Amino acid sequence: MMKLTNLNIIKAILNENGFTFKKALGQNFLINPNVCPKMAEYACEGDNAGVIEIGPGIGVLTAELAKKAKKVVAVEIDERLKNVLAQTLAPFDNTEVVFADVLKLDINKLIKEKFCGMQVTVCANLPYYITSPVIMKLLEDRLPIEKIVVMVQKEAAERLCAPVGSRESGAITVAVNYYSEPKILFKVSRGSFYPKPNVDSAVISLNIRKQPPVNVEDERSFFGFVRAAFQQRRKTIVNSVSSSLNIDKQKFLQILDDLTLSPAIRAESLKLEQLAEIFNRLYKEMAI
Ligand code: SAM
Repeated sequence: MMKLTNLNIIKAILNENGFTFKKALGQNFLINPNVCPKMAEYACEGDNAGVIEIGPGIGVLTAELAKKAKKVVAVEIDERLKNVLAQTLAPFDNTEVVFADVLKLDINKLIKEKFCGMQVTVCANLPYYITSPVIMKLLEDRLPIEKIVVMVQKEAAERLCAPVGSRESGAITVAVNYYSEPKILFKVSRGSFYPKPNVDSAVISLNIRKQPPVNVEDERSFFGFVRAAFQQRRKTIVNSVSSSLNIDKQKFLQILDDLTLSPAIRAESLKLEQLAEIFNRLYKEMAI
């Protein structure tokens, strides 16, 4: 079995196949041998684990997942990696590579077709240019998955896993907490990749909730409201939401008053329950 974190081996395989890195696809491959086994440990529980990997690259994480999971389906956009992956994953009969853009893929269909009866998780060293859209797609598609274990830029990890109602929180923090229980698992330094990126990373887990922790009248409108609330995060929530969604400021202020909240409060100071409560009132009274 090839040691896929060995830089000489990586360079040899890539050279043999005439592969050159595409920065636009976020191609920074892991060369720290400690990271992938640890990610696989977190992603694969029990002997019935099915894993969807996003962006296998040369297959370094795929190989570790294959040792622990019943089945791994890796989704890779770059068809130039076809021969490389055929070579590096040859020792494993429980892996499959689907060449597609994960953002355009029907993942629900993929799960039905490939993982019958398995406990499915998603695991990836995510291409950083699509961190937020991938995470939002995985959460909003309401996939039958247990958890998501992914490596993201350290700053993104801190935002995703920040408590709702803290300075670091943003619209995506609210969405992540609505659908899952997020947690930073461990940090990974920039020297763990080839080529070396300009930033450090962290592996996070998002344990999917069976039920959201709050009730909202309409999910789509709620997340529209949340995006509007955080759009101008230095402004008060009243100003930010009223200007984006064109709603009556006085009525909004009355709702805050009824909920004994300051008229000067910003979105980043509000807990998930409070955001849901404000939204439900706006939805009922002003049909936002
Ligand atoms: N898993 C490998 C590793 O850890 O060394 C590679 C990770 S690299 C950060 C990201 C990978 O995602 C690359 O292989 C890249 O080609 C792939 N990728 C980029 N955009 C993608 C997309 N939209 N859909 C699927 N794969 C994508």
